[in-house]
Amino acid sequence: MQSVFDGHNDVLLRLWHHAREGADPIAEFKDGISTGHIDGPRARAGGLIGGLCAIYIPSGDLVFADPDSNGHYSTPLSAPLERAPSLDIALEMAAIALRLDRAGAWKLCRSTAEIRDCIEKGVFAAVMHMEGCEAIDSDLAALETFYAAGLRSLGPVWSRNNVFAHGVPFAFPSSPDTGPGLTDAGFALVRECNRLGIVVDLAHITEKGFWDVAKTSDQPLVASHSNAHALTPVARNLTDKQLDAIKESRGIVGLNYATTMLREDARSDIDTPIEDMVRHVDYLVGRVGIDCVGLGSDFDGATIPQEITDAAGNQNLIVALRKAGYAETDLVKLCRENWLRILASAWKEDSGTSAS
Ligand SMILES: [Zn+2]
Repeated sequence: MQSVFDGHNDVLLRLWHHAREGADPIAEFKDGISTGHIDGPRARAGGLIGGLCAIYIPSGDLVFADPDSNGHYSTPLSAPLERAPSLDIALEMAAIALRLDRAGAWKLCRSTAEIRDCIEKGVFAAVMHMEGCEAIDSDLAALETFYAAGLRSLGPVWSRNNVFAHGVPFAFPSSPDTGPGLTDAGFALVRECNRLGIVVDLAHITEKGFWDVAKTSDQPLVASHSNAHALTPVARNLTDKQLDAIKESRGIVGLNYATTMLREDARSDIDTPIEDMVRHVDYLVGRVGIDCVGLGSDFDGATIPQEITDAAGNQNLIVALRKAGYAETDLVKLCRENWLRILASAWKEDSGTSAS
């Protein structure tokens, strides 16, 4: 079994939804549940030793557009969200992350040394991520506060616009060049993330925003859960030019398990073969090299292939990759070491400096 540290999941969103219905998030994660994708027992069974766990504010108005007779679709961007209610929800999700840590259900990690310690002890290594910064004010006071609470990674924008950036819609086929990029506040956010040592994630941002971050950030470029546009031309996937920039920065692209981002026809369909996942890994590795590809499952946030089903089935992908010719040394990089290198770099562990 290869231990996997994964670049993106939405388990906090599921735990938050269930907590609102009266469930106990600690028991749900510790003891397991039959729905969703990640909990302690299923993560252990599938060798999922940790990952970036997103704080994400749901868009109540989001309804995915039906495909036309050609299978094409274009879901309009969701409406921007108000900050105050978004902050409330973000605080609730952060609290769940902190309570899981205090209860020993997982460890909220702030360094790669802590992640490696978790791998050794068999404790789920969670890194607090924010997917879309609606909870952050343009003066970045909340950023400072969330950093103190453990936030170590963020995507400035989800697939809706906010004060920092413009997001890409869920559209097929579509270029990712769908609108403007970072705002002035967005540029300031990226610079502050660089200063503090917070990963800047390019998933869900427009192509213009991608280039804005590329020219501003001092970190390797990170697209935590995106695939190859050349194979599945949805707006959320990365063009060859974007992948080349990730390679040049020694960054990372994390394979998204969402069937809409894997299939040639971009359909939401659990009956999607693992071969489609391998095809994207092959393409990404061919384009950016074995050192710049990781996994970014989108567990608990997407419709994924039935052959994986949930975190317990994660090794089925590894088995398929092995069968496709990947050596164990390659799999170690794909499964965890590339992500750990990126985190160490963004968190400035190599330089021995720390943010004040
Ligand atoms: Zn996402």
